Amino acid sequence: MNGDSGEIILYQNQVYILVDKQASPTRKRYTVMHELGHYLLGHLGETPLSRSEHACKPSEEQAADKFAIDMLAPACVLWGLHLHTPEEIAKVCHISIQAAGYRAQRMKLLYQRNKFLSHPLERKVYAQFSEFIRQYHAGKPGNF
Ligand SMILES: [Zn+2]
Repeated sequence: MNGDSGEIILYQNQVYILVDKQASPTRKRYTVMHELGHYLLGHLGETPLSRSEHACKPSEEQAADKFAIDMLAPACVLWGLHLHTPEEIAKVCHISIQAAGYRAQRMKLLYQRNKFLSHPLERKVYAQFSEFIRQYHAGKPGNF
């Protein structure tokens, strides 16, 4: 793994996401989403054999990180749950305290802007989490 916790490779027309099995569950979740981001955002290109994490540009790394955090801790859901601190975000979203810290910083800005649910896709995400949000506020957190 060359020191990384994950990698995505294209091999014989199959896509594989490799994850360090020693990594923590929160790290594995983040890594899988980061690598999936590379795939869905088209970073693997048409390379027929393999393209490893190390071939990605810094801008692609940032995009994959944004994809991962948007998937694991959607801003509109955090807003719906009224989550602000890294500790709250880490606990509810099952992400590392470090990733949650970055998300909390971003959320501070988004809370100030207060433009949640202005995009149709964001409303769609929110609708998919509406029952989860309702249960959270009702004190029946299910899987927490
Ligand atoms: Zn990457």
